Amino acid sequence: MKEIISKFISEVSSKNQNEPEFMQAVTEVAETVIPYIVKHDIYYGQNILLRMAEPERVLSFRVAWIDDKEEIQVNRGYRVQMNSAIGPYKGGLRFHPSVNLSVLKFLAFEQTFKNSLTTLPMGGGKGGSDFNPKGRSDTEVMRFCQSFMTELYSHIGPNRDVPAGDIGVGSREIGYLFGQYKRLKNEFTGVLTGKGASFGGSLIRPEATGYGVVYFTEQMLKFRDNSLKGKKIIISGSGNVAQYAAEKCIQLGAKVLTLSDSSGYIMDPDGIDEEKLAFVMKLKNLQRGRIGSYIEKYPKASFRSGEKPWKITCEIAIPCATQNELNGKDADILLKNGCICIGEGANMPCTPEAIQLFKKNKILFAPGKASNAGGVAVSGLEMAQNSLRYSWTREEVNEKLKAIMIDIHKSCLDYGKTESGYVDYVKGANIAGFVKVADAMLAQGVV
Ligand code: NDP
Repeated sequence: MKEIISKFISEVSSKNQNEPEFMQAVTEVAETVIPYIVKHDIYYGQNILLRMAEPERVLSFRVAWIDDKEEIQVNRGYRVQMNSAIGPYKGGLRFHPSVNLSVLKFLAFEQTFKNSLTTLPMGGGKGGSDFNPKGRSDTEVMRFCQSFMTELYSHIGPNRDVPAGDIGVGSREIGYLFGQYKRLKNEFTGVLTGKGASFGGSLIRPEATGYGVVYFTEQMLKFRDNSLKGKKIIISGSGNVAQYAAEKCIQLGAKVLTLSDSSGYIMDPDGIDEEKLAFVMKLKNLQRGRIGSYIEKYPKASFRSGEKPWKITCEIAIPCATQNELNGKDADILLKNGCICIGEGANMPCTPEAIQLFKKNKILFAPGKASNAGGVAVSGLEMAQNSLRYSWTREEVNEKLKAIMIDIHKSCLDYGKTESGYVDYVKGANIAGFVKVADAMLAQGVV
């Protein structure tokens, strides 16, 4: 088996040189899915995973725009259309200086499995730009978004490819992108999700990824006759996913101790309650400030510049910032401090070494493609509402989100439960996500 896996990995690797994030994502899937393929005749010999590891299409384009000093800026835009076997390409746009093809291919590959897990008809895609919105004025961000969409619009559409937000792309950016698409096409369609509620956005979409991670974490704990109540939680990030993960943890009676951004983390020994979280939301979403300002308002808290929160003693850790933010050393410290559960809010935030340690110690570990699927699931519900020209209430969307997260947890059990009763959620999510896409690809022939 080892030989088959390493032959596959070296073949993919030879075609994708200098793409470490993409290879990391493909390797993790190959290690769990290839043994399954080998045991199942319908998949064996079809090169199905090799086909899934090759994007159907990759677009790269120039984004030229003029800044407030009237200087011309040039960024690079991308869209990776990874897999459309089960529905139109679907996945977010990321605006961050670290964006490159390796990062977007890893995200698009993960997205294909994640979207399949939701059971909604969505293929996998991802896109973005190396543009850094930080420190830019609203009008600069608008001009950038308009230039980006002017190139992208002819490649997307409600039945072709439906982008959404990700790091650096929130409701402001989605609004500007949507406005430019509508102007260029002279059409009002659900071409983007994460839109404002006044122009076709779904209620609960901003909350969905964070809430979904916590619903999934709740399911894992319940499976072990445990719950979130009274648990000490550390969260990294302070953006969209982190904020709503914190909100749901607080609502369910847990104590959230930390939040972070790229400048460091804050630790509040009394816990971050709803009022303190409202301060963080205003600080990050409206004032576009830094998390360190928290201690000016709440002096009992502390701020550690340039550090990550993993040293803080907790029962549950929810990494919600970015890929590879929690490594083997961090995992070791978390385990020594008694952590029993990890719910990935970000995409691939834990390194392979960290995941190995969590699995070896048999603690609960939820991979992002399962636990953070709530965001794209509600995006799928937004697409359905747009097609129906109808809006569901907050309660209706929240109930549907919860049901989807419970179903994803069940799918992970179906394929990931071992004889000893331990659940390998990585294996479970990868195989469950694979089966639906592979079946559709086989039915559609070699295309
Ligand atoms: P936001 O841009 O809203 O927030 C990102 C947060 O992470 C910010 O606090 C940011 O700090 C921090 N961060 C980003 N890059 C780094 C870095 N290199 N080092 C340290 N901190 C960093 O993004 P989201 O909350 O939307 O996304 C967070 C993660 O969740 C990503 O991995 C994304 O792919 C994933 N995700 C998001 C979904 C969504 O619906 N939004 C859906 C599923 C997954 P700073 O402000 O200083 O940059």
